[in-house]
Amino acid sequence: MMSPTHIGVGITLATIMFPIAPEFAVIAAIGGIAGGIFPDLDLFVGVHRKTLHFPVYYWIPTVLSIGAAVYSLSSLTVFLSFFFVSAAIHSGMDWFGAGPEPRPWNKESQEAVYAHTHRRWLAPKYWIRYDGAPEDLFLSIVLIVPGIILFTEPIPVLATVALVVGILYVAIRKEIPDRFGDRI
Ligand SMILES: [Zn+2]
Repeated sequence: MMSPTHIGVGITLATIMFPIAPEFAVIAAIGGIAGGIFPDLDLFVGVHRKTLHFPVYYWIPTVLSIGAAVYSLSSLTVFLSFFFVSAAIHSGMDWFGAGPEPRPWNKESQEAVYAHTHRRWLAPKYWIRYDGAPEDLFLSIVLIVPGIILFTEPIPVLATVALVVGILYVAIRKEIPDRFGDRI
């Protein structure tokens, strides 16, 4: 799934802070957004979908940081809780998309995300056929819109930027490998 979808997951997760501690909703969303982006930084360092993707191990700091937040509610513990849960869900969600190949609609890759616990790649499930597919955009919109209408700044601005980037990405997705090479 594309980055705006992962960002949207972080935003939607953060809405659970409204009934619990609304003063921490914005920092929760910032943590969720950062955690949604973070795993894909392995596009630039190491092996994509492996080096910073941990479908299982991210749940350990998630549980620890939520425990810390319950014990001592603060901006830091809330940020870390949402950062790690968003990164964990991101890593798991990639399994349900396509592989990281340049033209994932060809369905040639058998490597959706690396499961460090099992020391092997998980094969793509194609629930979302490829990153930037129309259904990926639909999911993005559903997950990002709460950020635009429910939160105070800077979340609506960040959410809007993510949505616009997502729409543009989907519009040119199939031209990307031809225009920009096979790196992405
Ligand atoms: Zn990813």
